[in-house]
Amino acid sequence: MSRLRGLQCRECGHLYGLLPIHVCELCFGPLEVAYDYDAIRPLVSREAIAAGPQTIWRYRALLPVEDEPIIETYAGCTPLVKADNLGRLLGLNQLYVKNDTVNPTFSFKDRPVAIAGTKARAFGFDTFACASTGNLAAAVAACGARAGMRAVVFIPADLEPSKVTNIGIYDPTLVAVHGNYDDVNRLCSEIADKYGWAFANINVRPYYAEGSKTLAYEVAEQLGWRTPDHAIVPTGSGSMFTKIWKGFQELHRVGLVDEAPRTRMTVAQATGCAPVVDAFDRRTLNVAPVKPDTIAKSLAIGNPADGYYSLKVIKETGGWAVSVTDAEVVEGIKLLAQTEGIFAETAGGVSVAVARKLAESGRIAPDETVVVYVTGNGLKTPEAVADRLAPPITIAATMEAFEAALAVDQRGAAAVA
Ligand SMILES: *Cc1c(COP(=O)(O)O)cnc(C)c1O
Ligand SMILES: [Zn+2]
Repeated sequence: MSRLRGLQCRECGHLYGLLPIHVCELCFGPLEVAYDYDAIRPLVSREAIAAGPQTIWRYRALLPVEDEPIIETYAGCTPLVKADNLGRLLGLNQLYVKNDTVNPTFSFKDRPVAIAGTKARAFGFDTFACASTGNLAAAVAACGARAGMRAVVFIPADLEPSKVTNIGIYDPTLVAVHGNYDDVNRLCSEIADKYGWAFANINVRPYYAEGSKTLAYEVAEQLGWRTPDHAIVPTGSGSMFTKIWKGFQELHRVGLVDEAPRTRMTVAQATGCAPVVDAFDRRTLNVAPVKPDTIAKSLAIGNPADGYYSLKVIKETGGWAVSVTDAEVVEGIKLLAQTEGIFAETAGGVSVAVARKLAESGRIAPDETVVVYVTGNGLKTPEAVADRLAPPITIAATMEAFEAALAVDQRGAAAVA
């Protein structure tokens, strides 16, 4: 009995084979991988997973791969940090940070890309491509390098310089497009039609998206096979957000988690690009596209493909959609670094700032278990905080100079007093 039923239209339910397609021919709805959970249940156990690799592939039975060789990029199995210092400040006793800054290319995108690349190669594509807000391009370029596939990646031309370096080092064909992500994505849809390339976020998107489920599996496993009361997820397209919820539900369906998940799922966005939050506030499931203007560029998607489905998840789970200003994003980055020693990029600052808002407004009770997803590394966007930090204390190489400086520096003086 096969674990995989095929690709299924999320609107009309029509089933397709496991092909490099992403849109329903009948109703233009998006396609999603459908599983036979009865077939999966006897194949999975907590013990077998614990004995598996320290990567996303330990959950292979729940991922859309068959016999094809996988591309092992060592994505996943990142720390779930019990954030007691930050929790004390926010009045939360069970606060956790999923630290996905430490993936191979320093963002969670390595998870979905490992699946997309594996499928792209198995389908016989020689070129692995994507439209990216920055992090996806790095993950695709690195995965392409490792798998021996040509990588062609497209980014908005105004991307942060550090992100461009984080992509360029893998030597893909890197195309910077004048316009925002939504312009880049539209161009890539045309290119995908004309050239026979695998686009992570277009024709192999149904497989790509499944990789984000591992963010749910890992958190549940790290919590001792239970799901949290709250998950706070930085959201661009909404793909990761919806798949984390799918992942929590699947764990229960296949018997790895005893209780049905009751996680309140919260979308975190920056005010300068908050189409999901806007729709949530207007109490509608229909997202009105916006023009992004925020330092949280990895979330700067004005017309989110999974916006509608994200709003449905919020409604189903009793979660929220909350936005924070760029100033609050910077504060969030600093707060996380200065309490827990984790340096996040702007998207991580968004989730921390939203967690703070939820706690301060009493929407999270002190003893509820909260997981804040921190999805990208601070070295991707150092510009966001560089001029907000105390400069180094520069001195001559003498004890006198050091002690003179120490007398001026309040923190240092307190430490020696
Ligand atoms: C892409 C990205 C997101 C948003 O993911 P979506 O699936 O597009 O919602 C969040 N954080 C980081 C660091 C990202 O790179
Ligand atoms: Zn359909």
